[in-house]
Amino acid sequence: MITETAFRAMSQDSGLTNAPPTCPACIPESLAYCPQLRKNSAVYTAVSAEPAGVLADTFTPGPGGTAIHTGHNIYVGFDEFARQASCLALQMVVRLDGMRLESIP
Ligand SMILES: [Zn+2]
Repeated sequence: MITETAFRAMSQDSGLTNAPPTCPACIPESLAYCPQLRKNSAVYTAVSAEPAGVLADTFTPGPGGTAIHTGHNIYVGFDEFARQASCLALQMVVRLDGMRLESIP
């Protein structure tokens, strides 16, 4: 189940999300209890899901060896090695490919 706030499209049938997968049997319960899903969501199937990066808090060196907080929930890809030393991972982000819009059961 994809929401606008938890998805970034990369092409017509692929994108990045931090939303966990939902099994078909749990979709009605998820819609009943999650206000965000009721407000705006769509059900997709995907051919593949691969870890791509994280949402992280980011920091920069400050005076006296301190760390200055510079960002929250910033996407950092697993291939962005130079940025990884200055971030604290909060959530996994996966890349979905071969996405297909499905009807809500
Ligand atoms: Zn389930």
